[in-house]
Amino acid sequence: MSGGSGPAAGTELLVRWMRNCAATFAAQREYLTDLDAAIGDADHADNMTRGFTAVAERLDGLESDAVPGRVLVLAGSTLISTVGGASGPLWGSALRRAGKTLGEERTITTTGMAAALAAAVTAIVELGEAQPGDKTMVDALAPAAAALQAAGEAGVPLGEALAAARMAAEDGMRATIAMPARKGRASYLGERSVGHQDPGATSAAFIIAALEQAVADG
Ligand code: ADP
Ligand code: MG
Repeated sequence: MSGGSGPAAGTELLVRWMRNCAATFAAQREYLTDLDAAIGDADHADNMTRGFTAVAERLDGLESDAVPGRVLVLAGSTLISTVGGASGPLWGSALRRAGKTLGEERTITTTGMAAALAAAVTAIVELGEAQPGDKTMVDALAPAAAALQAAGEAGVPLGEALAAARMAAEDGMRATIAMPARKGRASYLGERSVGHQDPGATSAAFIIAALEQAVADG
């Protein structure tokens, strides 16, 4: 549509998404550190901030003709190479798979983004083997992907669809409070993890909110 002059609108949208993630994790550092201190090792905010700051820097050098999917593949690779904790490889694989699913598509539609998000969830489950209810990022991300898919099937425009996805992610995030952790470090605490919101599920809700914001700012 742009005729080769400058990045496609979809590319700019996803770059805004990744930059919003970097800004959100920097702003929410204390909150996320406290959540991980309660049931993990208090490094989750540092992991996400370091990772998405590196992503934002890497995207400064993005090719001008890059398709949107390329943004997510690059972002995912950057997270894998810069984050040591569980969340680095999991989010890294998720974004890489989402980017590959977008393929050569130049515009971001509700159905296209729904397929990308569903693929991201699949990548996380393949790598981390968490099921819904295990008190992980999956508990926020899978409902968000489902909400986006339902919105896509109903022909709902992207901004409105992402508001529904973000609310589903937040509901899923809050539902982790009542769950005993069965994956990751928090699982060492077993029943003692009940009563605490999962940091990774919280980050997942932030990441969906960052995409909603990127669309709103477009
Ligand atoms: P680490 O646990 O290595 O310190 P982080 O603190 O960055 O890494 O991330 C912790 C979060 O990662 C958890 O809150 C949880 O949501 C998520 N997580 C951990 N293990 C898994 C897994 N196997 N599958 C999905 N998500 C997981
Ligand atoms: Mg941790």
